[in-house]
Amino acid sequence: MSTVALITGAASGIGASVARRLAAGGAKCVLVDLDGEGVERLAKEVGGAWLAADVSTEQASHDAVELAEERYGRLDLVHLNAGIAGGPDLAAFDPARYRKIVGVNIDGVVFGVVAGVPLLKRSGGGAIVVTASLAGLVGFDGDPVYTMTKHAVVGLVRALAGPLAKENIRIGAVCPGFTDTPLVADAKELFVSAGFPLLTADDVAAAVETAFYAEDSGTLLVVQPGRQPVPYRYAGVPGPATGQRPPSS
Ligand code: NAD
Repeated sequence: MSTVALITGAASGIGASVARRLAAGGAKCVLVDLDGEGVERLAKEVGGAWLAADVSTEQASHDAVELAEERYGRLDLVHLNAGIAGGPDLAAFDPARYRKIVGVNIDGVVFGVVAGVPLLKRSGGGAIVVTASLAGLVGFDGDPVYTMTKHAVVGLVRALAGPLAKENIRIGAVCPGFTDTPLVADAKELFVSAGFPLLTADDVAAAVETAFYAEDSGTLLVVQPGRQPVPYRYAGVPGPATGQRPPSS
């Protein structure tokens, strides 16, 4: 029986690399993206199903999970990855931009969990990985609202790790630094000229695969260029109540 994976933001960058990796390993993929042409193209390449939809609506996640069930009869892995950067400047506040980034980066993840968990349960368990960011762990003053959205999804992962573990579902997040995808295209020249190393989308995709099979629910994998991904440990506060062993440091 093939593993069935649902990936949001799958037409480009990290999501597309995850789709290619999972499909190469034999998984059946359900790919979701706002970019209909891009997601259809990738679905043809990897042999999966696709849906052009906006993850900031509840309907998108509902339809994607329904597609997974109709087409493949089950769901094992969910990668909640769709995201945008460029939150509003707080000194020249644009409410529409604020709602948009919160809608994609937070609502999209919440709706994906809400829609995905029942089918994961009916499939006997599985795993959810959220693409957060290093900006979900540190204060990135270049984009405070983006930073807030990524901290929010890290909080969701930590809070759900215990309850979902009881349902045989692991949930975790990857927290990558700057990655060479269209999301950072405008700043790429600056990074290159400063000799600042960037991750590749496939570096992050490899970490997503690791996170799917992490021993502990609630694992937050920090992904940085030239290093193995490492689980982030909060100091001085309790970890997720998973009933699993406490972190050693
Ligand atoms: P990307 O722009 O290459 O890919 C993002 C994909 O999400 C695109 O295909 C886009 O069409 C899709 N998308 C955007 N809004 C959507 C919506 N409302 N509904 C459905 N799909 C939507 O960027 P990426 O770098 O691969 O980003 C993937 C994730 O990684 C994002 O959550 C981003 O915040 C996170 N991230 C990126 C970096 C980086 O430096 N590139 C670093 C850390 C975290």
